[in-house]
Amino acid sequence: MRELLSKLPKIDRILKEKVFAHHNITLLKKIIQTYIEMLRQNALRGMACPDYEIIVNEISNIYRKTLSPTLTPLINATGVITQTNLGRSIFSPDLIKEITPLLCEYNNLEYNLEKGERGERYQHISVLISALFDCEDSIVVNNNASAVLLIINTFAKDKEVIISRGELVEIGGSFRIPEVITSAGGILKEVGSTNKTHLNDYTNAISQESTMVAKIHQSNFKQIGFTEQVPYEDIIKLAKKNNLIDYYDVGSGYIEGINTRSEPSLIDIAKNKPSLVSFSGDKLLGGPQAGIIFGKKNLIDKLKKNHLLRALRVDKFTIFALQATLRAYLEQNTKTIPTIAMFNQSQEELLKKSQSLLTLLTKISNLRCEITPLSSKAGAGSLPQEDFPSYGIALYHSKIKTQILNEKIRQRGLIARIQSEKILLDMRCLSPTKFSQIYDIFLQIDIEDAK
Ligand SMILES: *Cc1c(COP(=O)(O)O)cnc(C)c1O
Repeated sequence: MRELLSKLPKIDRILKEKVFAHHNITLLKKIIQTYIEMLRQNALRGMACPDYEIIVNEISNIYRKTLSPTLTPLINATGVITQTNLGRSIFSPDLIKEITPLLCEYNNLEYNLEKGERGERYQHISVLISALFDCEDSIVVNNNASAVLLIINTFAKDKEVIISRGELVEIGGSFRIPEVITSAGGILKEVGSTNKTHLNDYTNAISQESTMVAKIHQSNFKQIGFTEQVPYEDIIKLAKKNNLIDYYDVGSGYIEGINTRSEPSLIDIAKNKPSLVSFSGDKLLGGPQAGIIFGKKNLIDKLKKNHLLRALRVDKFTIFALQATLRAYLEQNTKTIPTIAMFNQSQEELLKKSQSLLTLLTKISNLRCEITPLSSKAGAGSLPQEDFPSYGIALYHSKIKTQILNEKIRQRGLIARIQSEKILLDMRCLSPTKFSQIYDIFLQIDIEDAK
């Protein structure tokens, strides 16, 4: 064993190899140390040390892999339109083309060209939000979680926020409304019961300490049966009568282009002239990650004066991408917003796409494929109870177990789901430009298996 250990190369010798001349020394040292330690453990178990050249080559490979980009594009065949795990809403190449010159050049993000003085970054968005919602003013922050934090911290620090017990929800990623309100310095005043809250419950809870009546969208969770929540219009009226602020965290608000009967659009919500409303930029809106707040100007002005805003400030990319997205709504050009376009495919389109992918995949004789009706989902906690009828392909491989096949396609960047021992490829989020890539993925796996 001592002999085996004595064959291990010295770290300093490897470091001096010419191939490593331009490598980062700290990272290289770490990789060599880990690798030699592994060889040492092997030697203790009686395994021989590989040749020196092989070791150098292996370390070089590990180094390269460590520095290669970890982010990679994926093909979404799950039928879930905005998946938080897969990056939520995606952008059209046209939008990226539109904002690229802005990203690569200096720009008037915070510069008023007319007056030659400092401008405001939020101005680029608030003009459009006011036009869309006929509201007084708006502001944009990092995400909707930031919006909740900023609003509570600005108006409800050490004061009571009245919220229904049925709306104290947890959203994915351990974002819990009660915890956020407390973290922001607010005092939570719960009213009603889990399943039923009446207007009276709010009215009776109002005291000297109250500052806000908040409504929180239940998001990814739905109550059925013996339930009641107070409509936002009534909360607005109650708040107004008592000189309080009303606030609605809508979560995944939408403007138009989504065929749902269960949810009012943001435009409908805005018609009631609320004090403050907030929603996400990258859920049903189909834009960049952002939290958009709109409502009364005097309240938005106060949000702008909160020092926390600096910590929640959006980058220029967000402003550019959000402006392009909102302009698409105003110009009635929502087909350029992929999220909206995916919602709006007809059954015929989805069936036609299934047929053309089926034609390709049936060329692989070991694949058994058929077209099947499926139901797609909005995702990211939006419209949880709604199914959007779709079409896709159900398939299995005659020689590879479905579970294994699914792992193999996933490792090649195709994300699908399994049902009844078959892989389902939902057409909802698939562009026909990806079909040949999907075919190649299955073909490669098939060829590899035959070897
Ligand atoms: C999604 C959601 C949030 C958080 O929004 P992010 O943009 O992901 O930070 C907050 N409140 C509700 C009701 C939501 O649905």
